Amino acid sequence: MKYYDKLIFDLSKAGRQGYSLPTRSWDATLESLPAGLRRSEKPELPEVSELDVVRHYTNLSQMNFGVDSGFYPLGSCTMKYNPKINEEIAAMPAFAGLHPLQPAATVQGALRVYRELAKALSAITGMAEFTLDPFAGAHGELTGLMIIRQYHISRGDLNRTRIIVPDSAHGTNPASAAVCGLEIVQVKSNANGLVDVEDLKPLLDDTIAGIMMTNPNTLGLFEKDIKEIAALVHQCGGLLYYDGANMNPLIGMVRPGDMGFDVLHLNLHKSFSTPHGGGGPGAGPVGVAEHLVPYLPVPKVVEDEDGLLSVVDKDGNACGRISGFMGNFGVLLRAYTYILMLGKQNVKQVGPLAVLGANYIKESLKGCFKLPIESVCKHEFVFDGLLDQSTGVTTLDVAKRLLDYGFHAPTIYFPLLFHQAIMIEPTETESKETLDGFIEIMEHIAAEAISDPESLKTAPHTTPVRRLDETTAARQPILRYKDLV
Ligand SMILES: *Cc1c(COP(=O)(O)O)cnc(C)c1O
Repeated sequence: MKYYDKLIFDLSKAGRQGYSLPTRSWDATLESLPAGLRRSEKPELPEVSELDVVRHYTNLSQMNFGVDSGFYPLGSCTMKYNPKINEEIAAMPAFAGLHPLQPAATVQGALRVYRELAKALSAITGMAEFTLDPFAGAHGELTGLMIIRQYHISRGDLNRTRIIVPDSAHGTNPASAAVCGLEIVQVKSNANGLVDVEDLKPLLDDTIAGIMMTNPNTLGLFEKDIKEIAALVHQCGGLLYYDGANMNPLIGMVRPGDMGFDVLHLNLHKSFSTPHGGGGPGAGPVGVAEHLVPYLPVPKVVEDEDGLLSVVDKDGNACGRISGFMGNFGVLLRAYTYILMLGKQNVKQVGPLAVLGANYIKESLKGCFKLPIESVCKHEFVFDGLLDQSTGVTTLDVAKRLLDYGFHAPTIYFPLLFHQAIMIEPTETESKETLDGFIEIMEHIAAEAISDPESLKTAPHTTPVRRLDETTAARQPILRYKDLV
């Protein structure tokens, strides 16, 4: 253990200070607070210098792994690089200093960003209109399903309370449908990993609100029967929901609107380069085809003939309200910056390059890892563990060993269709050299699995914490220093 891995509480020394507050008296302010809200004892904070605090947080930050510190091929998550100009624009005082309750006349620039981003996303996806209000992919799913429900209700079609979800779907799909009060009907995948059209047909009747699809699906495969599926679902009166969290490979190539989808969400924190997960809040804009525009949630931004923008807060047709104000504006700014920086021409290269990188890794490694579905993938693909599993080395062991070599592990044990799933998504922002480095290490690990299986089963060896009991870590996390000692 390095000296500074010591927790800051161990460095505390009574009376040591790392701050100085203005000398003016706060007593009058304090006395105006109700007694019940006032602290009667000093907080138990470590007494340390400013430098101790700086080192503590800097060292903590280096114990973590981020896309800024190394390759992060986490399938289904699109961990692409977040260009720093996005941060600069989002931090501009003219944007960062706005208050959400300012009159519309004083925030025309921000509302313009909202409108223009909505238009850009409409152009990229082939949808008629967008709301940028939802805060995450799953939140977008809920919003989209509320729009579908509102559409059926507005037509007096009240029996449509069931939604079809493929067995390969991301877990948020059935979860969002359940939150929306819909009953989930599962449709199976066929041997090629695609939605089984024959299994779908008997499910379609007048109780079906729609189907939720991911295309390319969570195996990284393009649902080539999508036109037929769209026609079948529309014939029975249902709508098509597109889970566009995986839009990255399609950007500039294919538009879900043209495939027949009625509603979709995008994950700006995946395909549109805004920070992801612990790196920041998300955004899950929802796009709709023309016939669903009236049901978009409030608040919405509208433009009059003179180009003046205003916020509509009440609308009887709307499916409801899903955000206090208008989404995570700082995130929207970052995505808008990303799209403008790429421009119309370069945006077309995002999808093809993401697909090329994924296929390059897949083809390079299929001599060491089991490839259950042999076809051209899109932005990601799934191996089913090592080709030679005779020494008992599992996918978990491989993932842990990768950490020792400075790569983040891919997604493992998802999708649930294979027992030893490893799902790899490189994204277009990685160089060929990085992909080659990753391939080399994966080959090395496959060789180690035979020559020295123990080193894999006990990995990781070089990380700040070794292998965790993952269930206990998730169910009973220790979040306070006090619980550690
Ligand atoms: C990430 C993801 C989601 C959920 O997005 P969140 O922002 O995490 O809620 C939904 N579907 C798919 C296919 C995803 O990859």
